Amino acid sequence: RSAPLRPDANATDTDIETQLRPQSLDEFVGQEKIKENLRIFMTAALQRSEALDHVLLSGPPGLGKTTLAYIVANEMAARIRTTSGPVLEKPADIAGVLTNMEEGDVLFIDEIHRLSSVVEEYLYSAMEDYRIDIVIDAGPNARTVQIDLPPFTLIGATTRKGLLTAPLRARFGIDFRYDYYTADLLRQITLRSARILQVDATEDGAYEIARRSRGTPRIANRLLRRTRDFAEVEGDGQITKAIADRALNALDVDEEGLDDMDTRILLTLIENFGGGPTGLKNLAVSVGEDSGTIEEVYEPYLIQEGFLERTPRGRIALPRAYRHFDRTPPKGRGP
Ligand code: ADP
Repeated sequence: RSAPLRPDANATDTDIETQLRPQSLDEFVGQEKIKENLRIFMTAALQRSEALDHVLLSGPPGLGKTTLAYIVANEMAARIRTTSGPVLEKPADIAGVLTNMEEGDVLFIDEIHRLSSVVEEYLYSAMEDYRIDIVIDAGPNARTVQIDLPPFTLIGATTRKGLLTAPLRARFGIDFRYDYYTADLLRQITLRSARILQVDATEDGAYEIARRSRGTPRIANRLLRRTRDFAEVEGDGQITKAIADRALNALDVDEEGLDDMDTRILLTLIENFGGGPTGLKNLAVSVGEDSGTIEEVYEPYLIQEGFLERTPRGRIALPRAYRHFDRTPPKGRGP
């Protein structure tokens, strides 16, 4: 007797990510402030039969920016078109997208900090006045035609808000910044995903995955699927705390969920810079990562969890970092 096909049989990671995506604001776990405000803005726009104002979503990867863009479209009963900064190379690329919009449509631009400056400038009038200029013909016959666009909502997502220019930022009426999820919220997300994937997970099994997912739903979902493999091969299919612990250790998932770059940042700070303070640029060169990415993608989690601190004189490793890597803090820096 063959086992019934799972909903995710043969599905790729992207398929599964789509499948696990909440469809409504009520299903979206956490980020309460964002949800609360968004509910009001969406209701008000619907009551006035207007398009929702443009929305900027910023924060580290995997925290639910794309998911929220789809939810907004759903709740506004609108269509959504998705694209991303690097894909839109020329004004013609964005003009093509914009002239196909219908009233109330949502245009989602992922990695909006990677727009070229010509495309970005082109967006200004589209966002502000729902209008664009198109150049037709070339050479001596070239002329500009102004085209009116239907009111639409641009939702931009970025992991690097610091790279957005002031004029672009100013054109978003709604600006939300994501926080990392607590272990408890991630447990809820993991249990919800387990239900969808028809995996049996105990509360503390789910909690073990949640607590080691670096505050990030995408990581929790991925670890859930890998842990399920261990549960099926080495256990009876149920994800318990013991199975989760065994799987996560086998997958080299750090006891606190820190990833390779987190580890490199902290160990470099401790070993090469005597625990700091050291400037961001020095640290970036030593770990071989862009300083802005360290600042906006990695550090927020390390700071929130008390591994690292930003001081006016530079970054310092905190006692928790020394304890975690079993190192002795320099004198006067002890716990
Ligand atoms: P981002 O666009 O910020 O990189 P995504 O929106 O693609 O992140 O989310 C990554 C995965 O995490 C998706 O599969 C999504 O289902 C899940 N996810 C993100 N946020 C939540 C949430 N608040 N509740 C439930 N699942 C979430």
